[in-house]
Amino acid sequence: MRLLVVEDHDALARSIKRALEELRYAVTVVGDGEAALDELLTESYALAILDIGLPTRDGIDVCRAARAHGVGTTILILTARDGVEDRVSGLDAGADDYLVKPFSIEELLARVRALLRRAERPVAADVVAIGDVRLDRAGRTATALGTPLALGATEFRLLEYLLTNAGVVLTRQQILDRVWEYEYEGSGNIVEVYVSQLRRKIKGAGGADPIKTVWGVGYQVLAARQRIEG
Ligand code: CA
Repeated sequence: MRLLVVEDHDALARSIKRALEELRYAVTVVGDGEAALDELLTESYALAILDIGLPTRDGIDVCRAARAHGVGTTILILTARDGVEDRVSGLDAGADDYLVKPFSIEELLARVRALLRRAERPVAADVVAIGDVRLDRAGRTATALGTPLALGATEFRLLEYLLTNAGVVLTRQQILDRVWEYEYEGSGNIVEVYVSQLRRKIKGAGGADPIKTVWGVGYQVLAARQRIEG
């Protein structure tokens, strides 16, 4: 399995590479944003670890450009700043997860394993359509009123989980457990952040928001409007 590490801090890049190679991953390291985008567009990586602060092009820009070109690689961004804006812009740009520096290599490896595990899960070959939103699990695409939604892998999985459980009130914890699969420390609002991104993207495409907030509990998509195709 091939992984891309994009980090301009040589010592950190080397230690990440060494740790991943011990787990038998094939690792390519690049140190700037242009080179990273070039790798993502021309090579097939299972996962990219992408630093935000980079020469030539920052990590958020690389992520956004890669997603705009249809790159589906799972992306874990590294941020030196503990600021919410950085995380939100990273996730908004289509990153699947983020890790705040400084982090331990063990923590990074745990994230990588979790991300790869969920990326490998086979998907059912069917289409779920609720209201204006249509999600094709086999094709990994989603649309609102026929307009493609540019979703990162985590946003896609969140939407899939919500739509396939239409009619059920899902707690934030259930969503976190199912969509993220590991404990997020110090970022309890991650589910809200993602749900509001999804809503923004659906509305941006002109669609009606199918996600109902159940105050103090979580979210629910109404089942009455559900139909399963295929
Ligand atoms: Ca950096």
